[in-house]
Amino acid sequence: MNYKLSEIAAVVGGKFTGCDAEVRSVVTDSRSLSCELGCCPMFVAMRGANHDSHGFVAQMSARGVRAFLVERDVECPADCGFVRVDNAIDALQRLAAHYRAQFRGTVVGITGSNGKTVIKEWIAEELPAGMKYYRSPKSYNSQLGVPLSVLMLEGDEELAIFEAGISKPGEMERLERIIRPDVVVFTSIGDAHQENFLNLEQKCDEKMVLARNASKIVYHSYYEPLGGMVAARFADRKPFDAAAFPEVPESVIGNAASRRNAQIVEAFCAAMHYPAPSFASAPTLPMRLEVKEGINDSILINDAYNLDLNSLALALDYLHGVALNRRRTLVLSDISQSGLSDDELYGRVAGMVARAGVDFLIGIGPRLKRHAGLFGCDKEFYASTDECIARIDRRAVAGRAILLKGARDFRFEKLAHALARRSHTTVLEVDLDAMTHNLNFFRSKLSFGTKLVAMVKAGSYGAGDFEVAQLLQHQGVDYLAVAFADEGVLLRERGISMPVVVLNADADSFDQMIANRLEPEIYSLHSLRAFAGAVVHAGESRYPIHIKLDTGMHRLGFMDDEVGALCKALAETPQVKVASVFSHLNCADMPEEDAYTRAQIALFDRMSARVAASLPYPVIRHTANSAAIERFPEAQFDMCRLGLGLYGFGYRHNGMLRPVSTLRTRIVQVKHLPAGDAVGYGRAGKLTRETTTATIPIGYADGLDRHLGCGRWSVLVAGSSAPIVGRICMDSCMVDITGIPGVKEGDEVVVFSPEPGNDLETMARVLDTIPYEIMTSVSGRVKRIYLKE
Ligand SMILES: *Cc1c(COP(=O)(O)O)cnc(C)c1O
Repeated sequence: MNYKLSEIAAVVGGKFTGCDAEVRSVVTDSRSLSCELGCCPMFVAMRGANHDSHGFVAQMSARGVRAFLVERDVECPADCGFVRVDNAIDALQRLAAHYRAQFRGTVVGITGSNGKTVIKEWIAEELPAGMKYYRSPKSYNSQLGVPLSVLMLEGDEELAIFEAGISKPGEMERLERIIRPDVVVFTSIGDAHQENFLNLEQKCDEKMVLARNASKIVYHSYYEPLGGMVAARFADRKPFDAAAFPEVPESVIGNAASRRNAQIVEAFCAAMHYPAPSFASAPTLPMRLEVKEGINDSILINDAYNLDLNSLALALDYLHGVALNRRRTLVLSDISQSGLSDDELYGRVAGMVARAGVDFLIGIGPRLKRHAGLFGCDKEFYASTDECIARIDRRAVAGRAILLKGARDFRFEKLAHALARRSHTTVLEVDLDAMTHNLNFFRSKLSFGTKLVAMVKAGSYGAGDFEVAQLLQHQGVDYLAVAFADEGVLLRERGISMPVVVLNADADSFDQMIANRLEPEIYSLHSLRAFAGAVVHAGESRYPIHIKLDTGMHRLGFMDDEVGALCKALAETPQVKVASVFSHLNCADMPEEDAYTRAQIALFDRMSARVAASLPYPVIRHTANSAAIERFPEAQFDMCRLGLGLYGFGYRHNGMLRPVSTLRTRIVQVKHLPAGDAVGYGRAGKLTRETTTATIPIGYADGLDRHLGCGRWSVLVAGSSAPIVGRICMDSCMVDITGIPGVKEGDEVVVFSPEPGNDLETMARVLDTIPYEIMTSVSGRVKRIYLKE
């Protein structure tokens, strides 16, 4: 794109002031590096329910941004230009529609409940060689994602592919006006995002709006009621039913949904008069980025998503966010099919690499090597991935943040394997996108301006210490809270710089806390005095502390009759500054105790108001945990503390939340046993029939509670339920896989996951405990892996 700000104002109906800057790209996230990656960016400031990015205008202008789209007047730095509109998303949609109208290539729109990104990538793979095409990055398919992805078009592509995703009625209408697809592909239909629709028919009806002006339509009649509805509504346009195309044999693509996706791709190629695709196998498209521990204390970010300039920019952004104080290495392969000349392409890559602060580039492939001179950082080049694996100096990656970004043919998964820390086959997978989703769910419950503390005590409820904290820092949460000083020190060592509260601050660790800028919870006059002493000793003053009040839980904190003495002591202790006053509701998740909880909230209001009134500066008051955010909006005060909800559980089952953790392992041995034998210690697993068992390397020392043995819990093997047979051992256990076809050693086993029946709420019921206990029991020897789109 290439607009002057004044033109943008005219297109979107906004008011233009200041300097008429040129705009070639759009940035909506102030933390994004892309404003430096793209040239001539326009920063879009928005006001959301809980977020207002107008405060970042000055900072963005200091970073060199000259053009702004804003929803309210902000102080105008010299030599910048502004377009003022009522609603920025609306304005971006109009701008994108305007830009799209000038695009001469063919536009493909993909919609459906599942499989949009998979089909988009698959289609891109099957396009005729040499064609310049564009596809929206990852799953940019929302009301904001679609206009942003349209505005990323260069303009001279032959084909552009976009995804359209909706969650409520009326949304597709808006997306259709932007995308105006010539060709529409419908994927599967299911009950994802069903909350805001009356029924499936209404949702299908809404999705069909995308094809309103399309000349070619592809669908699969397997997916009813969508199939029948498309065939009837668009009969005049002779839509292509993918079911009529040859099925790929089951021996090539095992999964039925993938075989239907293959037919959809075949139908698309036929509709476009492209050569028929030759499916050697289902593309296994890892859409997500994986973060794990690498060798020699490095962190490895493996982004196996397709390699093009847009996805490289997104991945470099992520590297920037995760690396914090580590040095950055990029392992990059040649980039194919960019539609640019190599000089131009690698010139741009070199600029991105430099601006992302990468100081070591490992290039793989002959073309990158030929352009080595463009890169100013330390660098080395290999002809192939295998050569790199054989020759790379493992010491050179020590302690670094390493981004692996390779085109599919370069098989970077082998390199990822070589650089990963050898680990136990059992891993706890943490879905960072689900966590962001949960965070946003709870943010939407907060009134405007309410701050948020994220509880990351006990290694983020077992999800892992640093990566979760890094995500929350990136998401702009106001405070993190840990239980003990050591947990806070670890976060500081990893580069977390935001405020961190220590809940169980004991006097022995006060010096260490001050040295690491950790803020204590103070719960007694004794702890107040001891801390003030430590502050003086460290040569500090007005050090932030958090005062804990006891409103009924009777764990830690000042009682009502101690508030007078507390206020007096605070007045006499200028070494500290009270940042917040808080209490904890111990029954917020129990409706039968609501009268008690209301009284507790009222007591907190009174006690905290007295403390606040006694201080000559404002303080933050807070008492709500996750359950209280869901149930007691009146308890929000100035800030809330989000724990369990972040990890995907409500005070009772809540389908709007997404559990973040999945515990996986692999089968190490399969045995066929006769009836009458018994399995495991004490011969507790008596076999009443001929049985096939699988041994899995996870036991009670890994956090698999021993009470789950003897059939009380079932794991998932190839999607089927496999009960635990006999007693759970320290490091392993046996499961019954009788009748599950084709299971062999090395196959994956899911111990718990968000899947209904295999989930932690169910496991907690079996164990007569709460999800908190199970999550925090997964032992430290189980490696954590973080996944992100
Ligand atoms: C752990 C904790 C929370 C979070 O509670 P959830 O129920 O997990 O939301 C809030 N406040 C305090 C003081 C805590 O210790």
